[in-house]
Amino acid sequence: MKIFGVTGWKNSGKTGLMERLIAHFTAQGLRVSTLKHTHHGVDLEKPGTDTHRHRVAGAQEVVLASSARITTLHELRDDPAPRLAELIAGLTPCDLVLVEGFKGASHPKIEAHRVETGEDLLAPSNDTIRAVASNEALPDLDLPVFDLDDTAAIAAFIADVTGLAPRKPKGLKNDCFALPPGVHWTPVDEALDTLRDRLSPVVGTETVPTANSRGRILAADHMAARSNPPGANSAVDGYAFAYAGLPAGDVTEMPLMAERAAAGGPFTGTVPMGHAIRILTGALLPDGVDTVVLQEDVQVDGQTLRFPAGVKPGANARAAGEDVEAGKLALPAGHKMRAPDVALLSALGLPDVQAFKPLRVGVLSTGDELAEPGTTTDTARTYDANRPMLLSLAEGWGYTPIDLGHVADDRDALRAAFDTAATQADVILTSGGASAGDEDHVSALLKETGSLHHWRIAIKPGRPLALAQWNGTPVFGLPGNPVAALVTTLIFARPAFSVLAGGPWLASAGTMLPAAFTKSKKAGRREYLRARLNEDGRVEAFKSEGSGRISGLSWATGLVELPDGAMDIAPGTPVRFLSYDSLGIT
Ligand code: AMP
Ligand code: MG
Repeated sequence: MKIFGVTGWKNSGKTGLMERLIAHFTAQGLRVSTLKHTHHGVDLEKPGTDTHRHRVAGAQEVVLASSARITTLHELRDDPAPRLAELIAGLTPCDLVLVEGFKGASHPKIEAHRVETGEDLLAPSNDTIRAVASNEALPDLDLPVFDLDDTAAIAAFIADVTGLAPRKPKGLKNDCFALPPGVHWTPVDEALDTLRDRLSPVVGTETVPTANSRGRILAADHMAARSNPPGANSAVDGYAFAYAGLPAGDVTEMPLMAERAAAGGPFTGTVPMGHAIRILTGALLPDGVDTVVLQEDVQVDGQTLRFPAGVKPGANARAAGEDVEAGKLALPAGHKMRAPDVALLSALGLPDVQAFKPLRVGVLSTGDELAEPGTTTDTARTYDANRPMLLSLAEGWGYTPIDLGHVADDRDALRAAFDTAATQADVILTSGGASAGDEDHVSALLKETGSLHHWRIAIKPGRPLALAQWNGTPVFGLPGNPVAALVTTLIFARPAFSVLAGGPWLASAGTMLPAAFTKSKKAGRREYLRARLNEDGRVEAFKSEGSGRISGLSWATGLVELPDGAMDIAPGTPVRFLSYDSLGIT
């Protein structure tokens, strides 16, 4: 835990500075706690509250707990005042403790100074003061002087002095891809559980303007900076009054004030009891009113308002914070920002978000036979289809695609490619050469790292996957066959990448729909068929299960997932359909 202090005279702006620093550091994903020294007479509670009564009655320690927070009040009575070190030792571990006051303690501090307080700052009050934050220039001071409002610069200074670093990803364990031992063919669900349990975010964090945050994954919980709505206001165009001042009778008659309250043009006076005021949608409710009657329901006759009885107390009035209260969780860490979320955080006064940096997905193709599409007429060559497909998938999922090119089946060239890849990408996808055969150079090379795990998964299509880390960067070695490469990417890489990027694990639930095909499936492997919905809402399977048939991938609008066990399918049998849409393919 790093410790840094803020001191200053009364009204020097130290609490405002504390507040801005806390917001700044927590937005970087750091856990911040505070400790404040105060006068012995200062009390947390109003007399008469339950905890106050417990204390006055003689309780030594009073704990007030709710589902949101815990407060402990410890009465010292004749015990000595605690020292800062003891108080810090009692905190839950965090990244930074900001201390307000405790001027005499030895931790480094910044002194807040405001010219309006009339205190001249000629010299810092002691040598633990390492800088000054002031609203005037202090050229004679032999210390760094920051503008009191320049939170970013002050925070950078604190980080520098304390050695506080923004939260870095932990990195993956070397054996993170080890599957349970002794299983010959690992079931898909077990392989998925392994990934879900072992992976964690591998990307750093950064501050992003909320307006540009669509698609970004939040790196910290984001709390409402203010309530929505910030003040009580009218939900309609109408007339506002105090419900308690309504006269009795079938028809209400009230004197109408000459002024009006509009959105952005509030009425700042008080509406007298028994009077009404013209109010427009979104206008703050003026003092003295709590209820609004719709303009369609009234008659206005000069300065008199008339409407039938029966208006409910508080009608058409929105309470401050009725949508979201200041300080409440607006969006949690791991949430991926969408346009409506941008609206929410903007409304709640958050101009910036703390987001994970976009995951950089490097894609490498391997194989002597591969050529760029259209560059040769040699029928011994295969056009590289996987690399553009995988790069497109990564981009469609909101990641940064990194084209790592194509490498021939040559161990040294491949090694060089991995070396570069590990510096440019956060995760590497290779296709081809992932089995354990003679020409499977990707496998052979990854084996040298000692982190390779060949995944023999009970899945069709999809030969073994090679999972490893190259210089700490995770590598997903996919089969070369484009059908198998796509299926294994969708089933394994998609949920895994979401976690690596700071988001949630993505389970693909699919939808049960009637089949429009017949198939007798054997027990043993989970099968994925290229499929699409026909006009009757039934699921058609592609005419051939041949794994070389790339046209079926494009023909399809999704995959049918058949369970590990045997299954007889006839037209009408419910089957699980995973639409391309639900897999993030658009
Ligand atoms: P491999 O996994 O290297 O044995 O390759 C299996 C099959 O997939 C072979 O027919 C390869 O030619 C083919 N293949 C490998 N990589 C690609 C690629 N990037 N694009 C299209 N086909 C590929
Ligand atoms: Mg190959």
